[in-house]
Amino acid sequence: MSIIVFGSINIDLAAKTPRLPQPGETIIGSNFFTAGGGKGANQAVAAARLGTCTHLIGRVGNDKFAEELLTSLQSYGLNTDNVLIDKNTHSGVAIIAVDEIGQNNIIVIPGANNNVGEADIERLKKLLPSATSLLLQLEIPLEVVVRAAKVAREAGVRVILDPAPAVADFPIDFYPLIDIITPNEVEAGHLVGFGVHDTETAILAGKQLQERGVKNVIVKLGDRGAVAVTPDESFFVPAFAVRAIDTVAAGDAFNGGLAAALDGGLTLSEAVVWGCAAGALCATKVGAQVTMCDRATFDEFLHNSV
Ligand code: ADP
Repeated sequence: MSIIVFGSINIDLAAKTPRLPQPGETIIGSNFFTAGGGKGANQAVAAARLGTCTHLIGRVGNDKFAEELLTSLQSYGLNTDNVLIDKNTHSGVAIIAVDEIGQNNIIVIPGANNNVGEADIERLKKLLPSATSLLLQLEIPLEVVVRAAKVAREAGVRVILDPAPAVADFPIDFYPLIDIITPNEVEAGHLVGFGVHDTETAILAGKQLQERGVKNVIVKLGDRGAVAVTPDESFFVPAFAVRAIDTVAAGDAFNGGLAAALDGGLTLSEAVVWGCAAGALCATKVGAQVTMCDRATFDEFLHNSV
């Protein structure tokens, strides 16, 4: 079968500087690089690298970044036939400055991501019959995300939502359309209105989200692992012990790993372990899409960890 990721695609323009500039100030940076980003694209790369047939639906813009992004995404083995080149705007861009002690300033200009709409939903409908899961995040217009969940639900395809970044007015009628929601602690706290910082509060949050209609809740707990609340049980999966150096996109790796496992027929509890392993491996390297690991490395890591 296959999975579909419906979401954002960005190019990161990253500068290293001795310190972050003051308003009105120009400073000389020490290093510059471009890299693929966007939660949608990151999750798609994570799943594709694990060998899952993965379709990405989204938009890039009318600039030279479009080709760079598409070539790079294809090199990771995912299907970009349904990524539209939007002639009316630029590609999604994140302009990032990082100083010597790791503090950053980030400006995200969504560009083509903001134009994802009904035409993309039509393309989604065509792919749903052969899909096991639809992966969603919140970096494209919210009403389009809800619409995508609706058509997936109608087609009997599992809806996995990463409610990130946190949004102000999460629609109450969205919850019953979600099979698995995967907030981190901050996002979970934002949704339920109380602090989520350990297993106990994560389970409480999970139960509250279930009362709103979500079937399964997985709270990502960073270097502690993850908590899952299903209709039958609640359980904790500890993090894999790794030397973490950069946790950027660990959450996206988690969702890619989770969906890959479920597509392969594994149970939800096995899939949470896959998510944690994918997140941990991603945290051992610097970057986002480049840090998503291949299937052989993943299998060896899992094998050596038990
Ligand atoms: P997000 O990026 O959405 O904030 P997390 O930081 O919680 O998500 O990371 C997602 C998952 O990746 C975690 O549930 C955990 O399993 C794994 N992970 C993250 N950071 C580490 C770490 N330092 N060591 C081991 N595993 C990690």
